[in-house]
Amino acid sequence: MKSYRMYVRGEWIEAKSKAKREIFDPGNGELLATVPESGREDVIEAVKAAREAFDNGPWRNTTALDRGKFLFKISELIKRESKKLAELEVKNCGKPLAEAEFDAADAANCFEFYGGLATKIHGETMSVPANSMSFVIREPLGVCGQIIPWNYPLLMSAWKLAPALAAGCTVILKPSELTPLTALELAALIHEAGLPPGVVNIISGPGAGAGEELASNKLCDKVAFTGGTATGRKILEGASTNLKKVTLELGGKNPNIVFADCDLEAAIDGALFAAFANQGEVCSAGSRLLVEKSIHKAMVDGMLSKINRIKLGHGLTPGVKMGPLVSKAHLEKVQNYIQIGIQEGAKLLWGGQRPEGSEFTKGNFLMPTIFDNVTPKMRIAKEEIFGPVLSVIPFSTEEEAIQIANDTDYGLAAGVWSKNIFQAMRVIRQIRAGITWINTYHPTFNEMPWGGYKQSGWGRELGFHGIEGYLETKQININLDEAPINWY
Ligand code: NAD
Repeated sequence: MKSYRMYVRGEWIEAKSKAKREIFDPGNGELLATVPESGREDVIEAVKAAREAFDNGPWRNTTALDRGKFLFKISELIKRESKKLAELEVKNCGKPLAEAEFDAADAANCFEFYGGLATKIHGETMSVPANSMSFVIREPLGVCGQIIPWNYPLLMSAWKLAPALAAGCTVILKPSELTPLTALELAALIHEAGLPPGVVNIISGPGAGAGEELASNKLCDKVAFTGGTATGRKILEGASTNLKKVTLELGGKNPNIVFADCDLEAAIDGALFAAFANQGEVCSAGSRLLVEKSIHKAMVDGMLSKINRIKLGHGLTPGVKMGPLVSKAHLEKVQNYIQIGIQEGAKLLWGGQRPEGSEFTKGNFLMPTIFDNVTPKMRIAKEEIFGPVLSVIPFSTEEEAIQIANDTDYGLAAGVWSKNIFQAMRVIRQIRAGITWINTYHPTFNEMPWGGYKQSGWGRELGFHGIEGYLETKQININLDEAPINWY
């Protein structure tokens, strides 16, 4: 069992209170590690370190080329440690190894993408009167607090850190109190890459106290948050202290729409993957499956014939396709939604309970669960469950599908399955969501923007858009007339 410390000002430190939190493997209940349980005073210290590193340190004046090289180095180090990082992610979060390996590779690619983008940050100029010159330069935004959830700790760390560092910002990153281990391992790699002290600070601690301080601290110029929509509102309140810049990546209740003229086999496969990848603990999960009535039976039968292939178990067990939920409390929350679905009159087609067998007793396992004949007004169709629970909602017409799909406070992601490109494009254009797929679900790219409409967030991460959130814009005007203007 490892005892971790936090990374502040280039040093490894305990919480000032000496408090520690135990971190458990959700697949078997084993104690994995202890981490410092930081409080407000630790965050204040980390913010000071980042402030000094921004105001006095070399980072923001380092050439873009050199910042890029640091990011390439971090990418290489993640690749070197990818096996260890992936296994640790499995033990801490519960996800299957193949998914964690994908996350580690994607995290390395994210640093590589932004390493390349660092040298492409550029200004602009416009035609102005001949006696003037005017141009725009981009500058790093400053000190950025970054707060991430428990479902993709390593990948979310990369999504947050890489664009901020490429832009020349300094950061304080706080992973979820449930899953801090890979972020703290990443801190060691960042240290090895040789970034100046204080440029990256990684602290472990809860939302109450530590997270609240990070959102509200007046020395921070920005808070970038990924997590639940209710927490997002609190982040906004905290950020109002100094009107710091805010980006929010929040929840979703995403429609995955299957039309009668789809490739049925692909749609069946895609619907299961959309709903149950990462145990359904995915903000963009296709948790509302809208199915055209004429293929409803074929679609449901097809899913039931394949669902047994989703082998449950500890994520490190070969062949496992679905791991445990992240915590007992989260398991109970998801189980509660299953009871709500039953009480609301939805038809429980599959799952709804914990799997039987001695290998499952110590972990937070839950069977993949499908409810049929769900109506759009049911709570299981409206609220984010964030677990392996799929709601099948039949529809009759294209208009009805669009209406149901958009009948939500969220607007993160959506999928459409149809071989009719006219219909697929027509529908996608009508859906109010930031990430959409046609005849596939889930693949996204570091190069493309990630984020939501409506209450799924503010701003975008990844791609060119992602770096925008870490840059300020300054206009510089130069007078070419030597004589005074003699206005007075
Ligand atoms: P959460 O909102 O409970 O916690 C997220 C982070 O915020 C954690 O680090 C937590 O410690 C911190 N936090 C909690 N309360 C805080 C407060 N008052 N002030 C400051 N920080 C606080 O979310 P979670 O349960 O960890 O993650 C699940 C949620 O994240 C889901 O709603 C999911 O949709 C969302 N999510 C969104 C995206 C996206 O890209 N849009 C990606 C992954 C997860």
